[in-house]
Amino acid sequence: MIPKNHPRYQSLLSRDKIVNAYKSGILADAGMIAHGRGEAFDYLIGEKTTNTAEKTIETAAAALILAKDPVISVNGNTAALVPEHVVNLAGILNAKLEINLFYRTPERVKAVWNVLKDHGAEKILGTENEDFKHVKGLNGPRSNVSPEGIYNADVVLVPLEDGDRTEALVNAGKFVIAIDLNPLSRTSKTASLTIVDNIIRTMPCLIDKVNKLKNKDPEELNKLLDNFDNIDNLKESLKVMLNSIENFE
Ligand code: ATP
Ligand code: MG
Repeated sequence: MIPKNHPRYQSLLSRDKIVNAYKSGILADAGMIAHGRGEAFDYLIGEKTTNTAEKTIETAAAALILAKDPVISVNGNTAALVPEHVVNLAGILNAKLEINLFYRTPERVKAVWNVLKDHGAEKILGTENEDFKHVKGLNGPRSNVSPEGIYNADVVLVPLEDGDRTEALVNAGKFVIAIDLNPLSRTSKTASLTIVDNIIRTMPCLIDKVNKLKNKDPEELNKLLDNFDNIDNLKESLKVMLNSIENFE
């Protein structure tokens, strides 16, 4: 048990979840390395959602509300850290959930499926018994997407996606929302919108923003998107990181 008053409580709790998910077959070993890389960047933003990230989360909420066919893609890290929020968000948006794993095995797909089911998910796409379609520009099982899900989606939320898939989904004409603590990653640079924040903070904040904006005039929501530029957004996030180094004392 991690004592609640430990100064690194949240971080240790996340690590615990990541390690347990690895042990129970939800997460590939490489998922633990990805988590560590994220932690390093989290230090640089002070382990809190920055004002820039919050504004970007609001714009992401607008894109998801305006979407005709939104899909939330779920990988091992997401299933390990925020399964309850993922299922909740899908319910609020009437979005589809699709399992999408970099290191895909039938056992891991089943393990992620179980986690989502345990948290109340009804329908889960991306399982082994579907007639998968292929996304252009990718090879092998990583190119597989569900014909009912990502293949036809207009907006896809891909927390912690890899760069190649992000690029392929953008090239397929989709509005791709990434959550990635590393503003320099290829994922961050190629996504349509990148939330530079920890997924454990982003998801509850995104749910809150969706609830606040869902009855707004679509014109108002469109304005948020019109005023958004992802490279400017990434530069702002990098500035926060540079400031934290410059102001070190
Ligand atoms: P590229 O995008 O350049 O192709 P990659 O996808 O190969 O890089 P990975 O290590 O596979 O890089 O991606 C994991 C990414 O997820 C890292 O950039 C890391 O910063 C980010 N990440 C890890 N844990 C979290 C988290 N809890 N919240 C948000 N982002 C995270
Ligand atoms: Mg990446």
